[in-house]
Amino acid sequence: MLIGVRACGVCHGDLMVQEGAFPFARYPIVPGHEIAGIVEAAGDGVDWLKRGARVGLSALGSSCGRCAACLGSDEFLCSALGFTGVTGDGGYQELMVANASYVVRLPDELGFSDAAPLMCAGLTVYSALRHAGFKPGNRVGVIGLGGLGHMGVLFARAMGGRVAVVSTSASKESEAKELGAELFVHSKTRAPAEALSAWDGGANIILATASSIESANAAFPGLAANGTLVLLGAGPGDVSLNPMALIMGRRRVMGSPAGSRKDLHDTLEFAAKHGVRPRVTPFPLARAADALAQMHEGRLHGRAVLVME
Ligand SMILES: [Zn+2]
Ligand SMILES: [Zn+2]
Repeated sequence: MLIGVRACGVCHGDLMVQEGAFPFARYPIVPGHEIAGIVEAAGDGVDWLKRGARVGLSALGSSCGRCAACLGSDEFLCSALGFTGVTGDGGYQELMVANASYVVRLPDELGFSDAAPLMCAGLTVYSALRHAGFKPGNRVGVIGLGGLGHMGVLFARAMGGRVAVVSTSASKESEAKELGAELFVHSKTRAPAEALSAWDGGANIILATASSIESANAAFPGLAANGTLVLLGAGPGDVSLNPMALIMGRRRVMGSPAGSRKDLHDTLEFAAKHGVRPRVTPFPLARAADALAQMHEGRLHGRAVLVME
């Protein structure tokens, strides 16, 4: 299938491709896995999407279709995963070729720039909340307020959760409150674990979206009993936890990658129906390198999105 890309989100994963952090990446490569666009040509044998259909593609570019993960609607865990923008060319271009079986239809309510950040950042946080056993009324701690973090706040709120944001930057407080957080913890002036523990008994779920593993380690004791720490950002360093805090509170630690086609379908439907719209900073395609640099330096609000003319 040939897709005319209209918008492509700029994800931290693209920076990792640029830095050579994925050993399985193929070079040279066109990065980008938050793709929203239009079908330009459906391709032979494709009758479920027609030319002109509004579509999206996530990091899940292909999978084997036969293994236990694939048969269980959990294709992102397939060991033969084709990773858009990492093992095959992605969306930092005006026209791209995609495996039509992994291309999804966009709900009418979502514009291209709104849909693009949902394809990875939105999908990742929605899938993480789902797999961590989120229930309405849960207290969700979100570490970091970048592309993933801001979507974490929006989804947790729209799903009926309460939210605390933990950030190293005091200037993020107003943005966190605008997005719907009831508590903001500036981690340089207050210990995050102590602040979260004092929040009606701790967080039921912590989404660690920052790439700093130290920030996840520091927040972990702020989990409520039976709470789950979910790692979404992979920086250098190791997870280091007190075993008694794990055992006595029956706490859990898990990681969560982007998500399956089922997760993506549900993310898009939920966002469309419940008014979840990312904060977008648009860039022309020619300024992709600038968008990556600004994300790296933490100067962006919400998600940078490359918007094609
Ligand atoms: Zn991503
Ligand atoms: Zn498979």
